[in-house]
Amino acid sequence: MTIRGQDIVSVLKQQIKQFGTTSTLVDVGTVIEIGDGIARIQGLAGVKYGELLQFPNNLMGIALNLEEDSVAAIIVDDYTAVKEGDEVRSTGRIAEIPVGEALIGRVVDPLGRPLDGKGPINTEKTQPIERIAPDVTKRQSVNTPVQTGIKAVDSLIPIGRGQRELIIGDRSTGKTSITIDTIINQKGGNLICVYVAIGQKASKVARLVANLEEYGAMAHSIVVAANAADSVALQYLAPYSGCAIGEEFMENGKDSLVVYDDLSKHAWAYRQMSLLLRRPPGREAYPGDVFYLHSRLLERACKYSDEFGGGSLTALPIIEIQGGDLSAYIPTNVISITDGQIYVESDLFNAGQRPALNIGLSVSRVGSSAQTKAMRQVAGRLKLELAQYRSLEAFAQLGTSGLDKATKAQLERGRRIMEVLKQPLNSPVPVEKQVIILFASINGYIDDVPVEKVTAFESGLQSYMDTNHPEIVKEISEKKEIKPETETALRNALAEFKKGFTF
Ligand code: ATP
Ligand code: MG
Repeated sequence: MTIRGQDIVSVLKQQIKQFGTTSTLVDVGTVIEIGDGIARIQGLAGVKYGELLQFPNNLMGIALNLEEDSVAAIIVDDYTAVKEGDEVRSTGRIAEIPVGEALIGRVVDPLGRPLDGKGPINTEKTQPIERIAPDVTKRQSVNTPVQTGIKAVDSLIPIGRGQRELIIGDRSTGKTSITIDTIINQKGGNLICVYVAIGQKASKVARLVANLEEYGAMAHSIVVAANAADSVALQYLAPYSGCAIGEEFMENGKDSLVVYDDLSKHAWAYRQMSLLLRRPPGREAYPGDVFYLHSRLLERACKYSDEFGGGSLTALPIIEIQGGDLSAYIPTNVISITDGQIYVESDLFNAGQRPALNIGLSVSRVGSSAQTKAMRQVAGRLKLELAQYRSLEAFAQLGTSGLDKATKAQLERGRRIMEVLKQPLNSPVPVEKQVIILFASINGYIDDVPVEKVTAFESGLQSYMDTNHPEIVKEISEKKEIKPETETALRNALAEFKKGFTF
């Protein structure tokens, strides 16, 4: 075989042309110690904090402790396959997640890998999981409500778009249900919902997704799940990923709602990670920066000003407490970061008052400015009635025989209002219907209805209004306020309905 000089020249030219495109600088290190999901790596001198690292077998890790002569990384997937001496490559990328419309209806893990078996996610766009929150100059105060469809919440503890409202309570008091009902109520609306499950049982998450599907709510929802069996690294990343997904919609001028269920488990995952990384433990063995863990997440909730598109991200973090103790470390931290809390109580829950809102201890610091005028017209009186009822209730437990007539009447009305505020699962009430029943309650139309008949009265009234006076319902829904003439018509309709209602 003869080789012509010409051939050699052309091959050389080609090689020279490609030189530089094929060779990239890769920072490579070696695992010197591995255990409990943490790898200590020698080398990787140029690695950044939070950078993704590539282990053999396509396993991913995140560089977290950058020390003088080594790097400690947490392995995101099953770490049992990683051995001492394994080669680790830096990727130059910070953890990121696919974002955009293509995610709607999907269930993904915190790195955006599908968990629902519906194939790959068709989107090119990705965003880093961790980002700096928008600064104050880009924000405006909340002015649009998130309608939860839950009477007690929309009337007494209203939530505005862009607000951060904590849902706090003991285990099994209906915390998750409040958020799921809220998501279901957004059907046909323009609020995109992201539900982030952190450290929950996989079966529970599967049931929740099935529930959302059953009510057609997956059409506007995304679920990000890092279950109890997943690594702590994934659980730690989950809320930031969910936030990044919501942020993308916000930045495109849309409204999004992100539920973090729950941040107690998130703090545990972070504590475990920090202890394994041998960071110094502080109060309750949490690391010193546990406040920043949640503040940097919740600060990303925002209502953009109109010149920045006017989009919003509403955050509904959930915190589980023990024995009603609101003053533990993590709960007080998150209470101080959020714009209010919905406090659900096991005593109320067990007594059948569901949703089990403790109205006295729940607040919404900014939401009432987002309430519709119609709701504000009834909510003020409602709060007053309930406050009086609560202060009298304590006395009433000692017996009602010694009480005067006015006090008794107040108590009886309070009891009926509490009955109106009960609401079963998966049955959101549109805001105009909430206004009608609350108007009836505070204006004495249910005072003579026996307590056990209040529910029947309410459903009877709603269907009566739909069939006989749809114009009133429409008027309140469209004008978003009760005009004097609407009020007269409503009072007439109520009186008329009561004549036909048999107790
Ligand atoms: P966990 O601590 O396990 O996360 P949780 O506080 O999130 O619990 P949920 O899972 O929402 O509570 O609800 C607990 C149970 O109470 C569920 O079985 C749910 O069906 C029931 N429940 C919640 N809200 C209501 C309601 N408004 N009416 C009737 N049942 C309800
Ligand atoms: Mg729950």
